[in-house]
Amino acid sequence: MVGESLQSISPVRVRFAPSPTGSPHIGNIRTALFNFLFARANNGKMILRIEDTDQGRKSEGAVEEILSSLQWLGINWDEGPYDEAGGSAGDYGPYFQSQRLDIYNIHANNLIDSGLLYHCFCSSERLDQLRKENQLLKQPIKYDRHCLKTLDKQKRVQLAESGQPHILRFYVRSQNELIVLNDIIRNDVSWDPNLIDDFIAIKSDGFPTYHFANVVDDHLMNITHVLRAEEWLSSSPRHLLLYQAFGWKAPNFAHLPMILGTDRSKLSKRHGSTALLEYRKKGLLPETMINFMALLGWALDDKTEFFSYHELVDSFSLDRVTKSGAIFDFDKLNWMNGAYIRALSIDDLLERSLPYLERTFIDGGLHDDVKRPIDKEYLRQILVLVQERIKTLDELTYMTSIFFLDIVDYEGVEWEQNQWTIDDIKSSLESVLSEFRSINSWELGVIEKTLRTLAENLDVKAGRLFGLLRLVVTGRPSSPPLFQMLHVLGKKRTCNRVEAVLSIIGAE
Ligand code: GLU
Repeated sequence: MVGESLQSISPVRVRFAPSPTGSPHIGNIRTALFNFLFARANNGKMILRIEDTDQGRKSEGAVEEILSSLQWLGINWDEGPYDEAGGSAGDYGPYFQSQRLDIYNIHANNLIDSGLLYHCFCSSERLDQLRKENQLLKQPIKYDRHCLKTLDKQKRVQLAESGQPHILRFYVRSQNELIVLNDIIRNDVSWDPNLIDDFIAIKSDGFPTYHFANVVDDHLMNITHVLRAEEWLSSSPRHLLLYQAFGWKAPNFAHLPMILGTDRSKLSKRHGSTALLEYRKKGLLPETMINFMALLGWALDDKTEFFSYHELVDSFSLDRVTKSGAIFDFDKLNWMNGAYIRALSIDDLLERSLPYLERTFIDGGLHDDVKRPIDKEYLRQILVLVQERIKTLDELTYMTSIFFLDIVDYEGVEWEQNQWTIDDIKSSLESVLSEFRSINSWELGVIEKTLRTLAENLDVKAGRLFGLLRLVVTGRPSSPPLFQMLHVLGKKRTCNRVEAVLSIIGAE
């Protein structure tokens, strides 16, 4: 196995290197997960590095969202920008690229000395023009080396030192040999170097480009394996040229398959939520997400679907990662979450459900209706009734609200259904009320017996009476089983609801 053979060479070190440009999406975190599992499966280390060199695309709060996403799922990095105390952990920091500019400068200077980086002073207008000409002639878009041809090295350095705005470009030597990447997942992938532009290494704001910083850091941080999304495959030839220019050994690369929607197009907002934290908000369990995301491009066999974290660590290997796109099936995710929820103990479910129920109404919770704190013993009894019926924790708000609300919402309820006339309903509910009032011990069996006897006495089919009562206590056509529900609701709440309906229909 790949991991095993390489482990003997050097301890596995992988990195997750997100750019803080927005809330991390499923694809980003799947990359983080695969890195994490690979590190754990090989007794290696996972490094978190924040690639924040693109000042224009930095977005407020993105770093925090990256950290929360990883922490929520228990993807604990070994080295990175923060340790538990909030400091930097590890010997290879800083782990924010924006704090490593001196390091990039030193390395850029080395390549200037060896003639592999050169200053370019061309204006963006000139470059635009050049691009248009390339396009018109149907040529690959390439810089024409104007500055290299018209200015000698001494002049270029002099101009740069005098403050002339410039960038640093990498000099791509023309060569006959193809650039070949031996990708762990994709085997040999090759590119013609003659089609590669003299790409930018350092931008005019002094920050490195992704390519330059990424290679310098992967080398300096002793990264042995780069596991990243397929979209970065096309950057690899430039990275390999940089490794070659520095005289460094390139790490092993594995480009992970794309994530697709069920229509086989690239997963996007069109298919549903793609931001990972949306799933937390909806009440997906972290263990479901880990299990589900592990299967986005990896499988142990063609049947096993449920994996605990430890089982994943035991069985994860790159040779089972697929080349072809991985389908993200939202229905399957919900189904899997339902199964994980059903497997929780009631105490566990209780603790996990509280943050959802205690959210504000706007966030999908009950906070605006229920006085805090929610009575845990009461909630516990409710959860026993609804655990089987939910797929995500956010469904609990609707499911449990009938137990918490003082006033049931009867809007839209058609009382005269199922052969009930208003007069029948009235007289039946009056009997129900008086029977309920006379119950001393509000036990499940007593409630059931009382209602069954009453149905007989009233000469109504039991099912009809129960259906009416369900509507009375919930305002909804379906709910958890009636007797258990009444039992949990308690005598007082139940009687209040019957009274409320009597007064509504009395007024009609
Ligand atoms: N900063 C890149 C990203 O946002 C990292 C790509 C790589 O892993 O090389 O995904």
